[in-house]
Amino acid sequence: MELLSLLSAGEITSVEVTQGYLDQISAEDGAVGAFLHADVDLALSKAAEVDRRRQANEPLGRLAGLPVAVKDVLCDTQMPATCASRMLENFRPPYDSTVVAKLKEADAVLIGRTNMDEFAMGGSTENSAYQLTRNPWDLERAPGGSSGGAAACVAARMAPLSIGTDTGGSIRQPAGLCGVVGLKPTYGRVSRYGLVAFASSLDQVGPLALNVADAALLLETIAGHDPLDSTSLDEPLPAYSTLVERPLEGLRLGIVREHFAEGLNPEVEEAVRAAVAVYESLGATVKEISLPHSKYAVATYYVIAPSEASSNLARYDGIHYGHRTDISAMQAELATEQKAFLAAGDQIAVDNMDSPLVRMYRRTRAEGFGSEVKRRIMLGTYALSAGYYDAYYLKALKVRRLIRQDFDAAFEEVDLIAGPVTAEPAFKLGQMSGDPLAMYLVDLYTVSANLAGLPGISLPCGFTTSGLPIGLQLQAAPLAEETLIRGARMFEQATDWHQRRPEKKQS
Ligand code: GLN
Repeated sequence: MELLSLLSAGEITSVEVTQGYLDQISAEDGAVGAFLHADVDLALSKAAEVDRRRQANEPLGRLAGLPVAVKDVLCDTQMPATCASRMLENFRPPYDSTVVAKLKEADAVLIGRTNMDEFAMGGSTENSAYQLTRNPWDLERAPGGSSGGAAACVAARMAPLSIGTDTGGSIRQPAGLCGVVGLKPTYGRVSRYGLVAFASSLDQVGPLALNVADAALLLETIAGHDPLDSTSLDEPLPAYSTLVERPLEGLRLGIVREHFAEGLNPEVEEAVRAAVAVYESLGATVKEISLPHSKYAVATYYVIAPSEASSNLARYDGIHYGHRTDISAMQAELATEQKAFLAAGDQIAVDNMDSPLVRMYRRTRAEGFGSEVKRRIMLGTYALSAGYYDAYYLKALKVRRLIRQDFDAAFEEVDLIAGPVTAEPAFKLGQMSGDPLAMYLVDLYTVSANLAGLPGISLPCGFTTSGLPIGLQLQAAPLAEETLIRGARMFEQATDWHQRRPEKKQS
């Protein structure tokens, strides 16, 4: 990475670099709204420490002095972690997530916390309880989500690197809509320790950057086995940051028949097909493949993810941590109700009244969660309840297995699968906020990788005539991140889409 070479050559200091990004945040973020929290003093003092240690020739970490933004869902003892929820408005994590600990070990400058859909549920960042984030390419449009702040801050050059999470597309989709690179690793490749859980069998942490080489560097920094996460894979970690520069010989690229069905925007289709042609010109062989169960992926995901969410979010009860309703107001409410029932002579109603504890849970959760989070909890609780468990949850698990088997068969024949990230480019803010189902359908091309546990990357492959970025998605077999990034880098080196940048915004 160029910036890193300048830093290590002593041609620029970390304080200068960090100040440059902080200035860019002051100039742009009023309009974009990518950051929930930026800690100027903390960032500059870390930068100064790195500069001092460099001067003294002390050993430094891999990202020494380089700013990195982190999605507000990973615990860091020095920062808030609100998950863009009222529920965690005042939460200060008592420990560092493994990803944050690794970034600190690498001497990165953690510059701030980025906006997201509440608890990572959503695809537009409009579900944040705090603020809207706007797409730097068109401020009327959404940046995607749920890692919308993570993608927008990189696109608007407010951070060179950022960390996102992807449960059903939340790294790849906003990366695609904001014209940056976003990589979802294999499930288990990056530790989830200290990541606030949404759907534990699907959640993965991954990098966002301006190019594939930078994403590979960040991936190498955060990945690896972690005994603190029982699903973390104990597998050797390739040196992605150097391997990324080796093009793949004899690449076999698959394109999925079902991807090019009705509903795919013609400009997106054209850009993706042109990207496939670039691969052919680089010597790849292209083969059409079928993922017959992919048509069930969205339905399967929206049973499994809410089911896990309903269980994970049970912990926000007003007792363990997070928001708690105003207890005296609650007691007054109970007393008024009881008085009214007694006055009406309704003893049954009095007997059926909530206990103070139950009322406290109810009010806490009603106040702390936004409407999409409540919708997910209700969907998931329903799918897991007696009588429906077999029909919905268990059925979804079986279809999940079939989806994985489709991929296993496909990867016998091809090394990478190429296709769109989303059917449409960035949509207008507010366009889908009243229509949850339309919002869920945006995840058509991204949820399969999570259900199957595969790595996937989104990288810029063109622009619409109105100037909105278009993403190319590549997917690889489990643990084949090396193939994924080498293949992605080949395309990037043959094209210059990733070098375009949005015009400066007025705040
Ligand atoms: N849009 C999907 C959802 O709302 C994916 C979210 C994610 O990957 N965190 O569940």
